[in-house]
Amino acid sequence: MLQENISLLPYNSFRIQANAKYFAAFQNIEQLESLLADYRTQSSNQLFILGGGSNILLTKDVDGVVLKNELTGIELIDEDDAHYYVRAHAGTNWHVFVTWCVNNNYAGLENLSLIPGNVGASPMQNIGAYGVEVKDLITEVSAYHIKEKRIQQFTNSDCAFGYRESIFKRTLKGQYIILSVTFRLNKKPNLNTSYGAIEQELIAAGIQQPGIKDIAAAVIRIRQSKLPDPKQIGNAGSFFKNPVIALHLYERLKSLNPQMPSYPAEPGKMKIAAGWLIEQCGWKGYRKLDAGCHDKQALVLVNYGSASGKELFDLSEAIIASVADKFSVTLEREVNIL
Ligand SMILES: Cc1cc2nc3c(=O)[nH]c(=O)nc-3n(C[C@H](O)[C@H](O)[C@H](O)COP(=O)(O)OP(=O)(O)OC[C@H]3O[C@@H](n4cnc5c(N)ncnc54)[C@H](O)[C@@H]3O)c2cc1C
Repeated sequence: MLQENISLLPYNSFRIQANAKYFAAFQNIEQLESLLADYRTQSSNQLFILGGGSNILLTKDVDGVVLKNELTGIELIDEDDAHYYVRAHAGTNWHVFVTWCVNNNYAGLENLSLIPGNVGASPMQNIGAYGVEVKDLITEVSAYHIKEKRIQQFTNSDCAFGYRESIFKRTLKGQYIILSVTFRLNKKPNLNTSYGAIEQELIAAGIQQPGIKDIAAAVIRIRQSKLPDPKQIGNAGSFFKNPVIALHLYERLKSLNPQMPSYPAEPGKMKIAAGWLIEQCGWKGYRKLDAGCHDKQALVLVNYGSASGKELFDLSEAIIASVADKFSVTLEREVNIL
C-alpha cells in the first residue's frame, strides 16, 4: 500500500530530512506489480527504487513514488569443482550476505565486508573496496523491466561494468528494478591482501596464514578505524569517484606533485586519488554549519546533524570548483543526487 508524505530520514545514511509524496516497501513480486499498477504510480513522473539509502543525497522532497526493495534471501543454487554459485535477493543487507558467504567458506567477497547498503545496488555502481569489485564475481543479474512488466536476466557482460559504473546507471537508468544477483564464489580462496592496510593489519594481529575470515575481520577493523559510522555521523561513503585522467595530464601533475597517489587504469590513463586532491585544496576537516568534509578522509562529506541536502550539494560544488582550479581535474560525484 502506498503511504502519503513519508519522511525519508530513516531511509538514507546521510540522515537528510526530505519527504516522499508516496512511499511503500515490497517483499515479493506480486506486491511490486500491484504498486506499479497503482494509479498514483502510473500518473507520477518520478519513480525511485530505494535499497539501503547509503549512496544517495536527497536535495529536495521526492515529488513521486519511492519503492523500497525488501526482497530478501540467499540461496546456494549450483556448484562445480571450483565454485559455488550463490543467489542473493536485492533487499538482502550486503554485509549480512558477505558474512554468510565468509562463514560458509565461500571465498571472494571477504574484501568487500562492511560496505553499507543492499545486494540490489551492488551491480548498479559495481561496488568495490580493497582491490576487489563485484564485477569479478557476478555471473547474473535478474531485473524487472518496469514498462514491459517482465523479468530479464543479464549476464556479466550485459551489465557493461566499469569503475563504479554499469549499464543500469547509464543507458538503462530508471528502466529496471534489480531483483536478485548471482555470484560465483571460489572453493579455493584466492586471497587479495595487497591493497590498503590489510597486510599490516594481519601482521599486527599476529596472523601468518590468513583465511577468508581473517581477511574479513581485518577489513572490518580498518574500515571502522577510517570511515565515519553513518549511525553516528551522516554520510554516504566516498562522495566522489577517483578521477581517471589522460597520461599527459597525469605526467604533468606528477612532476609538480611527486607524492600524488596514483593507480594503474586502462591503457593511456591513470587513476588518481580524489581524497588527496581535495585535501590539497584545504577541505579536509572543513565544516560550515552541519555540512562538512570528514577530518580523517577528505573524500567523505558528512552531515554533523541537521545539514540539508542542498548545503551538502553546494559544498560538493565548491570542492569540484577548487580541485578543477588547482589541478585541472574535474571530479565526478559517486553519490546519486535526488
Ligand atoms: C560509510 C560508507 C562506506 C561506503 N563504502 C563503500 C565502498 O567501500 N565501496 C563502494 O563501492 N561503495 C561504498 N559505499 C557506498 C554504498 O554503500 C554502496 O554504493 C551501496 O551499494 C549502496 O547500496 P544501497 O542499497 O544503500 O543503495 P541506495 O543508496 O538505496 O541506492 C543507490 C542507487 O541504486 C539504485 N538502486 C538500489 N537498489 C536498486 C534495485 N534493487 N533496483 C534498481 N535500482 C536500485 C537506487 O535507485 C540508487 O540510484 C559506502 C557508503 C557508506 C555510507
